[in-house]
Amino acid sequence: MIVLKFGGTSVGTPQGMNQIREIITKDNNKKLVVLSALSGVTNTLVEIGERLRKKEYELALKVIKKLQKRYDEFLEELFESESFKNKASAIISESMNFIKSCLEKPFTNLIDKELLAQGELMSTNIFNLHLQEHELNSALINALDFVRTDAFSEPDEAFINKELSDILVKQPAETNLIITQGYICRNAEGNIDNLKRGGSDYTASLVGAALNADEIQIWTDIDGMHNNDPRVVDKTFSIPQLSFEEAAELAYFGAKILHPSCIRPAQKKTIPVRLKNTMKPEAPGTLIHTKEGSGEGIKAIAAKDGIVAIKIKSLRMLMAYGFLR
Ligand code: ASP
Ligand code: MG
Repeated sequence: MIVLKFGGTSVGTPQGMNQIREIITKDNNKKLVVLSALSGVTNTLVEIGERLRKKEYELALKVIKKLQKRYDEFLEELFESESFKNKASAIISESMNFIKSCLEKPFTNLIDKELLAQGELMSTNIFNLHLQEHELNSALINALDFVRTDAFSEPDEAFINKELSDILVKQPAETNLIITQGYICRNAEGNIDNLKRGGSDYTASLVGAALNADEIQIWTDIDGMHNNDPRVVDKTFSIPQLSFEEAAELAYFGAKILHPSCIRPAQKKTIPVRLKNTMKPEAPGTLIHTKEGSGEGIKAIAAKDGIVAIKIKSLRMLMAYGFLR
């Protein structure tokens, strides 16, 4: 089994969804596909939440209407038959009705988390229907049923292993494309929660580790991990191979291509992680698979903004308890 995760820019347009379908149907091997929300949607949901918290209902409604329009246009372009378009729009209406209902009740943290989950719930439903319109054997499984965090807000890996395999054995043998949401989960209390922004990569890695996948592929809009940040530096190039540690370090220190926690579950089980470009599937991308780094010199440079460094210099403070605290 291979786990493939497609990010927001990959699922964010009908052409992107068509492209993903082509990538995952190159062969008939079983695949588990993890999707993000359409690009920009999680940001929009965050904005709606902020407006609601400040009781700016008019402004919130304006943003909701714009979001509705985006989905209407998306479905119109993606689906060929009226019947699939209608099925998709019924599902999108459920989410949009939930979002609109937030205007009418006190805005709590619980509602906020449920609001943020709508992006992935909608993208996966749309994509699964898209596969079915193309008569492919796909099934949508809900990440809220098997991704859970523990009392320390860390993924409960034992729970994920057990619940996911229970769900998968119930799938018909001919179902070779399983679709699920990245990012969303339940917490220790059973409430809807998430793995923090960019968390779909983390979901893919957790799920890949739970299934002992042959490979975890992270598909995005750049052909792998570059030796420097291409948004800032000209003429960067992708690095063909990295060790788990090198990749984790680059992700942690600012390489936006990967969620910083995403490497660990794969590393623990030595499952290769491949970074690929959805719009350039033939490009080799980056393969993260070795324990130790190889080669000489510096492989890549990452940068992080908004860091505050505090330097503390002690005066002569003999017996001055509590200074550092
Ligand atoms: N949709 C979520 C976000 O924008 C999770 C993800 O895309 O990885 O942060
Ligand atoms: Mg991402």
